[in-house]
Amino acid sequence: MKLIETFKLTKQYGDGLYALKDVNFSADHGEWVAVMGPSGSGKTTLINILGCMDSPTSGSARVNDVDLATLSQSEQTTFRREQIGLVFQQFHLIPYLTALENVMLAQYYHSMTDENEAREALARVGLSERLTHLPSELSGGEQQRVCIARALINHPGIILADEPTGNLDEENERIVMQLFRDLHREGHTIIMVTHDHAIGRMADRRVELHHGVLVDLSLTTHEAAEVFDEILEQMWLLGEQKVEPSAETLVVPDVVDSSSALVSMLELGMIKAATEAGLSGPIAYTPKGETRARAIIRRHRLAQKLFFEKFDMNEQQADANACQLEHILSNEVTDSVCAFLGHPSACPHNKPIPRGDCCP
Ligand code: ADP
Ligand code: MG
Repeated sequence: MKLIETFKLTKQYGDGLYALKDVNFSADHGEWVAVMGPSGSGKTTLINILGCMDSPTSGSARVNDVDLATLSQSEQTTFRREQIGLVFQQFHLIPYLTALENVMLAQYYHSMTDENEAREALARVGLSERLTHLPSELSGGEQQRVCIARALINHPGIILADEPTGNLDEENERIVMQLFRDLHREGHTIIMVTHDHAIGRMADRRVELHHGVLVDLSLTTHEAAEVFDEILEQMWLLGEQKVEPSAETLVVPDVVDSSSALVSMLELGMIKAATEAGLSGPIAYTPKGETRARAIIRRHRLAQKLFFEKFDMNEQQADANACQLEHILSNEVTDSVCAFLGHPSACPHNKPIPRGDCCP
């Protein structure tokens, strides 16, 4: 059973505006899901409903097998206290209370005050030296860390974070994200709204909202493999035209943002950065990537030749079918096709067909 599950969750304002429309969202125990999407797409609305700070117009939201709509006002408060930790983009710290007092105020809200535990919570976010500082005496990153300490004071299983790094510089973003990684490793479930694809990639899964409609961005491994094949293939074609492949010259299928596909391929050892500039400069194959690219191009061009010459298809049809087959032909079948065609050295467009083991 899913820890969090919404069914056709809808929030409508006035006649036409849907902040959320028929959203089916779910998260497993211990999962970290990034909620992405442009401004005004419904991200905060989703977080607020999951945290019982807002209610839907229709549809349902279940957390820990409880339908949130069935909770009374006071049960909602209890639910939030016991299960949810909230981190926002705005810090919402009380300006005349110190860091320690701000955390203790949150304890008070959770019907307990334990100064030692509050100190420990702040130590854990690296703020032992800042206990008596007022928010105005803390940097943005330090204030956000106080907020995280405060959110963790009730040991919540679920952390809802709405653009938690939205107001932070790079260094503080790094520190705060490290905290989230630690929390994830400890088994907290994290639902995090973010604009930032680099942060989104740290999550186990990404979903995106567009005008209140949810799209799951996580590709199946099969889909991802096809995207990577497509990129490897384009690199080959650019190479034939003596053009350096890079994020600029490649046309990456828009099922994923292009930088994230390249980062994944880098991590999988298919490509490498050709210069110091990293992935923002030219890229090159690793031996593994090149072997795979050669095999795809070989399958594609052999299939083209087969369809064009033996099946009497026109070039367009042959091409379209080759695009399908290049992903699924096994090596054995490819070699058989190659032998059947007499081990041709060029495709119908006169592009070289890479040699295979079967070729004389
Ligand atoms: P996001 O967090 O993705 O920027 P929100 O969830 O805050 O988006 O808002 C989604 C949409 O709902 C926006 O178009 C916003 O203007 C609208 N909206 C949010 N709150 C209200 C409200 N109280 N009254 C009317 N419209 C609202
Ligand atoms: Mg928002």
